[in-house]
Amino acid sequence: MDCTEVQRLLHAYLDAELDMADTLEVEQHLQECKACLQSYNNYQEIRTAIKTSSLYFQAPEKLRNNIRSSVRKANRNVFLAHVTSWRGLSVAAVLICAILLSLWGVTRLWPTASGGNRLAQEVLDSHIRSLMANHLVDVPSSDQHTVKPWFNGKLDFSPPVVDLKAQGFPLVGGRLDYLDNQPVAALVYKRREHIINLFIWPSTQNIGGVTETNTPQGYHLIHWTKAGLTYWAASDLSLNELQQFVQLIQAST
Ligand SMILES: [Zn+2]
Repeated sequence: MDCTEVQRLLHAYLDAELDMADTLEVEQHLQECKACLQSYNNYQEIRTAIKTSSLYFQAPEKLRNNIRSSVRKANRNVFLAHVTSWRGLSVAAVLICAILLSLWGVTRLWPTASGGNRLAQEVLDSHIRSLMANHLVDVPSSDQHTVKPWFNGKLDFSPPVVDLKAQGFPLVGGRLDYLDNQPVAALVYKRREHIINLFIWPSTQNIGGVTETNTPQGYHLIHWTKAGLTYWAASDLSLNELQQFVQLIQAST
């Protein structure tokens, strides 16, 4: 390490900021070089002089007050900036909640107070879920003699399975689903590119006729009971065509 380098590192050495290797090298140089040692001693004296109290003085009262008030002001601005950003965040949160609630309101069509509406919502959810997930059918078959026995042992009832291919509603397959707190049969039919889910499970209720529900999203639900079974047909098919489908099912069960 030569003089130039030691001079460059002297302040850092005085402040004990050098790593061990540089510190040792500087110390070694100071032992061998009078000029650099002189510089070091000068710096040391200046440091000591600055530290003596005679060089400290009280700031005038006015200056101190000015500094204090500007520090307070700066702090308040920082605080206000925080408050403002929090307020912005809470406005955003309220907006997000409102959007979520309105979306929820769009999909939750009916007040869930009555059991029928709750069940209709369940049926609709199940229909939509079957289209979204890659789980439309457990037993993909257009053969009713394949689909019907598939439910054996999986349900404690035997759902009627009919093929309506000749009438324009080909059977696509069957699936186990869960509605109204029980496993149910879901039969899947097609009308052109429209999917129909026909949910069937045992019921002690007997509603006269059919109930039809139209949802704002364009789905139709038709519900009826027959011979101790409850039926729900769900599709985005036109109501006319879904009614036609239901009449065909009712005629053959
Ligand atoms: Zn030197």
